[in-house]
Parts: sequence; C-alpha cells; structure tokens
Amino acid sequence: MTIMTKVFILALDGLEYQSVKNWKLKHLMQRKFGTFPTLINKDMRVPLSPQVWGSFITGREQKIGSWLVYNRLLEFLSKQIPLRWIKGKRKLASKLQISHSYVGRSNIEGMPLFDVIPKSIAVEVPTYNLNAPELLGLVKTKLDEGLNAFENACMNRFEKTVNRIFESIEDDWDIFMAWITIADTLAHSFIRIEAKMKAIYQKLNLLAYNISRKIPEEAWLLIVSDHGMQLMPDGTGQHTNYGFYSLNHETAWNPTGITDFYKFIINEINTQIS
Ligand SMILES: [Zn+2]
Repeated sequence: MTIMTKVFILALDGLEYQSVKNWKLKHLMQRKFGTFPTLINKDMRVPLSPQVWGSFITGREQKIGSWLVYNRLLEFLSKQIPLRWIKGKRKLASKLQISHSYVGRSNIEGMPLFDVIPKSIAVEVPTYNLNAPELLGLVKTKLDEGLNAFENACMNRFEKTVNRIFESIEDDWDIFMAWITIADTLAHSFIRIEAKMKAIYQKLNLLAYNISRKIPEEAWLLIVSDHGMQLMPDGTGQHTNYGFYSLNHETAWNPTGITDFYKFIINEINTQIS
C-alpha cells in the first residue's frame, strides 16, 4: 500500500449548507463544495447521526437506529410496537431491567477507514471511538440544569475537542478525522437565534482555517456534514435530508451519497493498493 496523499476529515455534525453560504464562510466553502443526498433512516424517516457516520467511515450502509444499543429481545419488541413508542425505549428497558450499551466499533459492519489506513488518528469519531456517554450527558444537562448550562457544556466540549485536534495534528498520520457536534447540538435548541448560530459557524470557519494552515499544502481537507438543520414550525431544529461537503482541491468527483466518500478516500486520493 502506497500512501499518495494525506487526508484530513473535519466532520461537522449538522452543518447546514444554506447557513454556510448565507454567512459567506469562506474557509468552509473551499475550492469545491456543495450538498449530497444523505442516508435516511427507514424507520425514523430522518438521517440519524450514528448511522450516517458509521456508514461514512466504512463505506457501507449501517443499520443503526440510535446512540444506544439494546439487547436482542428489546430490539425485537421495538419492531413489534408502534414507532411512537420507541422514544420510550429507555424507560421500557429499565422497567424490564434490560441494560443498554453505547453504539461503537462492535456494532458496525465492514472495515473503518482507520483500520484500512495504518497511520490514522480518529478524534471523537461516532461508532468508532466517540465518548458517547459524555455526548448523551449534554442532553441530561439540558433537562436537569436548563438551556444556559447546556450551552456552556456544549462550548466546553467543543473547546476540548479542538484542543485534542491541535495536540496531535503535527503527529505522523495519513488520515486524520475529527468529529465536532456543536452545530447540530446547538441548532436543535437555538436555531431561531441567528446571532448565536452565526457565532458558532464563525468559530467553525476559523477552525477550518487553522487546520488548513497546519496540514501540508498537498493534503486533502475534506469538510463534511451528515445532514443539515432546518427550522421546524415549533421553533426547534430538525435534520434535513442532505449533507454538506467541501474540498480544498479541484476534482471531477461528486458525492452521490454518504458511502461514496469512503471509496473516494481509499481509491482516488489516499492509497494505491498493490
Ligand atoms: Zn448529525
């Protein structure tokens, strides 16, 4: 295997194409950028982040319905009862004393990019090495302590992940992927508050710039989101059916789905398997 070009993947959960364009965030809009139709969960009829990212890192459509994994009996039961009941699965699980675990490497099929490419760094990648209990802890903060505490916790987590990126960006790697959830997490609650959302997007724009300065010029910088966010009639944000992507070099390639990125990275830019 010969490594041709290094690839840095900045995975920005829920980054919305229209917002990037409206606010003219030039470091997010690289040489080539646009949208692609993302993977829609068949049961929930919206894109689900762990399923989309699991499919991104393996190039295979994964069958994941949640950040949580229940045992088989409960999975079976959940398929027999109406969809609106599924939201109560956690309660049901504790009632039946069925424990859950968090979705991870053992729940996805296929070979993640990081197992194919030897020199790889993965920071908080969903279904691979994300600290899922910490992520879900943000929801608990929102419920127990309110929106201000939730926003602060989101910002702290964001700063922590950014620090982790710059701690290892100068290490020896061929593929580096870092996942940042703040655009998604905040939009679910604050999508109506434009100033707040714009400030976050500007931080992400600056992050993209700082990363581009640290990686070799010939390296690929792929910025990608699993879905966008749209304002719902009740004032909250919900996932859109398309994702965003952006590349720092010209290419004739256009993604037609989330699993295309894997093939692109493996076959066309990263490796020559001899
Ligand atoms: Zn997402």
